[in-house]
Amino acid sequence: MTAGVHTTCPYCGVGCGIVATPDGKGGAAIAADHDHPANQGRLCSKGAALGETLSLGDRLLHPEIDGQRVSWEVALDTVAEGFRKTIEEHGPGAVAFYVSGQLLTEDYYAANKLIKGFLGTANIDTNSRLCMASSVAGHKRAFGSDTVPGLYEDFELADLVVLVGSNLAWCHPVLFQRLEAAKRARPSMKVVVVDPRRTETCDIADLHLALKPGSDVALFNVLLAGLAERGAIDRRFVEQHTSGLDEALAVARTTDATACGLPSAEIATFLDWFARTDKVVTLYSQGVNQSSAGVDKVNALINCHLLTGRIGRPGMGPFSITGQPNAMGGREVGALSNTLAAHMDFGAADVDRVGRFWRAARMATKPGLKAVELFEAVRAGRIKAVWIMATNPVDSLPDADAVREALRACELSIVSEAIRATDTVDACRIRLPALAWAEKDGTVTNSERGISRQRPFLPPPGEARQDWWILSEVARRLGHGEAFAWRGVADIFREHAALSGFENEGRRDFDIGACATLDDAAYEALKPFVWGGGSDKRFFGDGGFFHADRRARFVATKARFPVNAPDGARPLILNTGRVRDQWHTMTRTGKSVRLAGHRPEPAIELHPRDAAARGLSDGDIAEVTSAWGRGVLRVHVTDSLRCGEAFAPMHWTAQVSRAGRINAAVNPAVDPISGQPELKHTPVEIRRL
Ligand code: SF4
Repeated sequence: MTAGVHTTCPYCGVGCGIVATPDGKGGAAIAADHDHPANQGRLCSKGAALGETLSLGDRLLHPEIDGQRVSWEVALDTVAEGFRKTIEEHGPGAVAFYVSGQLLTEDYYAANKLIKGFLGTANIDTNSRLCMASSVAGHKRAFGSDTVPGLYEDFELADLVVLVGSNLAWCHPVLFQRLEAAKRARPSMKVVVVDPRRTETCDIADLHLALKPGSDVALFNVLLAGLAERGAIDRRFVEQHTSGLDEALAVARTTDATACGLPSAEIATFLDWFARTDKVVTLYSQGVNQSSAGVDKVNALINCHLLTGRIGRPGMGPFSITGQPNAMGGREVGALSNTLAAHMDFGAADVDRVGRFWRAARMATKPGLKAVELFEAVRAGRIKAVWIMATNPVDSLPDADAVREALRACELSIVSEAIRATDTVDACRIRLPALAWAEKDGTVTNSERGISRQRPFLPPPGEARQDWWILSEVARRLGHGEAFAWRGVADIFREHAALSGFENEGRRDFDIGACATLDDAAYEALKPFVWGGGSDKRFFGDGGFFHADRRARFVATKARFPVNAPDGARPLILNTGRVRDQWHTMTRTGKSVRLAGHRPEPAIELHPRDAAARGLSDGDIAEVTSAWGRGVLRVHVTDSLRCGEAFAPMHWTAQVSRAGRINAAVNPAVDPISGQPELKHTPVEIRRL
């Protein structure tokens, strides 16, 4: 092992290994971990700049109530008493947690156990709802479990990689580097990018399908029908391991290919390459998930892999790449309001099983509210106490001004946060200082099911504490001390592992029960490992799905378009996303001057014809208005997007750029199954200021 502390990058779902060497003055030298299987010695610009983000000047270091510093005793007593009183007067449905894919698995586990097992409600949702909830629901419909079948190395082994709704080059740069290197070494490998925008990812594309926004289901239905017509069917796999093909095909065959807005020759080329290539990986991300038809998009593309039997074998399969560093750990502990711990659900048997394991005092028996509806309930006064941990919903949720209003009006609003000045901290009454990356201790799971340790290498600043400790102290004050009497993160990890193996016997994909016997030293030394799968760590290569009949399901997906369509008043479609060198609401990356240099201010990208029609030139300042709100951004004229569409990054907050906070204008429509917001399709108008 290289000298220094081996830990994991806190940004994206690639989950790169990092070696941090403290300088003894509060800083650290950051280097890539050559031994980590995810990055194998690589880092991207964000990971490499982590050493520039360790200063403490912006940190929340002491508990506060109504702007006044208080002791931990007072803060914790107030939180516990507030929850006790609210539940007593209004029932468990009047309280909620909103947590984060930035939490470590152990913190995530503690939050879920407290609210679902001891407060009696599943009103806990995570910002991962904005990231991959559609993928979770699509996996469950197809596989009977929320399982990512393949591994990162499949991108390198494939002969055709289809990237759908993913700007991999900017959002998961190390995976892009791996793909780019594989293509350079083997130029016959083909890459297809399916994205309305021509992003940097297209630099390695052999074919860019700049489809009409929201038409992904139509495209994959056309592909499914075309593959069947050409006889590109793995009949043995379909007959032995699936059901529902006839219904899915019948719907696919009715799909109008022109709905995609693509030249028919491009669709024909895509079909031809997909039909002729055995080793195909379809990687997808937020362009698929963040949609009111997100779950159908996921199933439409999975259908094509089931038809061809290309799943769970080297170089083959659908692959959901998550945005958050620990979205997958959140899925494992059941951090979504509609899931239970250890990949269990709200069926009676699972509720009973988890309740017995936890010796729950008051077990939630039904799913809770999903992120957008949760904050609507806060705004309507149905939720009277909300505790937010490690996330900034006042900027990151759609219709963001309504979220701010909701929090300001809430009777008891609590935030656990590392940073002193965020728009969510400003809106909350009780502020609890939490440890940040470099100080906290635990595990994370990356997009290929790889569990890695995140280790502390700097001392805790001020009075900041780790989230699991804060939660345990509140639980103790509510009379549940015994169930939360953990001595440290190793105790929590062992309990989490034991629950995954509890009465499992192959029923559930997630089973790390063997880790329940790790002693403290073994946990401390834990090396990255991928959970589940067969001997090669992949799932489903030879069936073995998790529906009761062990078959996968084709899902009939009828193409439908975004909920809010452009009209004469708001004729442009606003798409939101990320830029290369910023992360979420910039609380960490915003501290690096080097990173800020890439995109120093919020900008709205516009097609030259749309800009000309509005008298706008590159560099002008423009107002973006929707039915929900507005933003003010600098205009960047580019032909990298389709005429009629606009793109803006989601990172800027009121702390940095009061009017550049684009989620104030984004519509709150959600997928009816996953509850994931349609962050990529809001009708807007844009005018010069
Ligand atoms: Fe961190 Fe993701 Fe970059 Fe890896 S690719 S260094 S995990 S931001």
